[in-house]
Amino acid sequence: MALRKDQHEFDKAHKAPESASPGATEPYSEAIRDEPQKTLAGPEFDFSATGIAEKEDLLRIAAANLKASLEMLAAGCADTAGYERLQDGLRARMPDLYARYDAYVEAVLATGKEPVSCSKGCSHCCSHYVTSVEPYELMFLHGAIRADDRYPSRVIGLYRRAALFNSLLDRSDGEEAEDRALYRYYLRGQPCPFLEAGGKCGVYDSRPMSCRMFYSLSHPSLCKGKGVVDPGNRNFLIELPEDIEADLARAGAAFARFALPESLFEGLLKANELFGRFDSGDEGRTEAAGL
Ligand code: SF4
Ligand code: SF4
Repeated sequence: MALRKDQHEFDKAHKAPESASPGATEPYSEAIRDEPQKTLAGPEFDFSATGIAEKEDLLRIAAANLKASLEMLAAGCADTAGYERLQDGLRARMPDLYARYDAYVEAVLATGKEPVSCSKGCSHCCSHYVTSVEPYELMFLHGAIRADDRYPSRVIGLYRRAALFNSLLDRSDGEEAEDRALYRYYLRGQPCPFLEAGGKCGVYDSRPMSCRMFYSLSHPSLCKGKGVVDPGNRNFLIELPEDIEADLARAGAAFARFALPESLFEGLLKANELFGRFDSGDEGRTEAAGL
């Protein structure tokens, strides 16, 4: 899914009603500027419903605790052994963070007036160029795929998609260059390298939050190709309260020296460059990268 954290800065006009939300839901498609703009009916959720504050608090605690533990682990990640220690640490922390995140999203969705259209196997949205992925998510996912026999072919798949996206960036589009490229990329219909037969996500337990927050109230056919700019399209994001977003972003700062791009495909390619499975000179590479 092509998501961006600063989307609200240019689609304020279509935000979910403030009375209903701490700023946690937004229509999605305003980011797409190659097509005429439209007015969307935003989803309505009751963020004051019983149980949501509790889920928020659990997530808030996990996000706040993440920073200190990741700083320690990232500092020791200067060689292959350090990378493995980092992976042990991420495996101990990330499933809990994601479980709390999913519980929050599920509780919010349960308060909706309309059912979401998303279902198992439905996967048009997995052809978006996924962005806004935190560095610790990238490292966690890298650890999950690195041991898999399909790792080399997946790296090639990541490379092809990143190359396609970059070929679609036109700097003459100015501030909208990235959004226009995201849309052009989507129209190419390139599914995520982790998408498997039957519309199954091959890294489901390790997929990033960007993939966990994307939903639709409209028919799945409107999630396909130019359907995303159809006036009837009702894709939306479930976002987090700002303080939790800030804590999650601060936790990511622990990995700043890895300089991982925030897009899923380019971020994983950079992790591969630093910690690739078939690189016999792992330690030399990390040294060369100043890690
Ligand atoms: S309805 Fe749209 S957003 Fe939901 S799972 Fe299907 S393709 Fe993805
Ligand atoms: S990581 Fe999984 S959920 Fe996310 S785009 Fe890829 S296949 Fe879809």
